[in-house]
Amino acid sequence: MTSTPDWIQGYGVETDMSGDKSGKQAARERFWMPPGSEKVVIFLTPGDRSPTIWEHNYNTGSSWANWLTCLSPKPCPMCELALANDGKYARYKVQLFTVIDTSEWQDKAGVVHKNERKVLCAKKKTVEILARCHLSRIENGVSLRGAAFKVFRTKADKSPSVGEMFEFIRMVDLSSYDADELDYAAMFAPDPIKAANVAATLGRDMKAVATTPELSIKY
Ligand SMILES: [Zn+2]
Repeated sequence: MTSTPDWIQGYGVETDMSGDKSGKQAARERFWMPPGSEKVVIFLTPGDRSPTIWEHNYNTGSSWANWLTCLSPKPCPMCELALANDGKYARYKVQLFTVIDTSEWQDKAGVVHKNERKVLCAKKKTVEILARCHLSRIENGVSLRGAAFKVFRTKADKSPSVGEMFEFIRMVDLSSYDADELDYAAMFAPDPIKAANVAATLGRDMKAVATTPELSIKY
């Protein structure tokens, strides 16, 4: 065991730091639910072992499916950007849980995907709900690991994208699944060069909007 990386605020798993993934690939590995949908997931991360990190979410064009892990405790260009722009793109904490997404989907090549592992990134409200799920499993002499839940996301504006109702179904024998947690470092290790580039681009865009007369005289 080596020491926990400084960018993990809580417990961190020990993994190879050399991994690198494109933004799109990383986004595909995040658990996400369309509004009004229901899915069944099986937790692989025990409820008291989920690493907690600071991250920034930002939009490029029309997509908000972009994230950067905060560089804190080192100086973070995204935090500086947020400070200079009324908190836009400010960091927030997420807890990371690996889950098996049992829903089925077909890609463009016709390949059917099922039981893929995803990282469920839980913000504060969802963390509270999952903490209760964890405690309830412990009270029953088991763990969140191996617990299957029916998850529901409402259509309400700003409903958590990972779902908001978690209904326990049953404990699952994980021996027939790929049941290792995903490599958090490969997906979430901070990238100082990308953070600097993204912050510079977003900063330029915001300045351009603020100084364009027809856009700034709106009231
Ligand atoms: Zn930051």
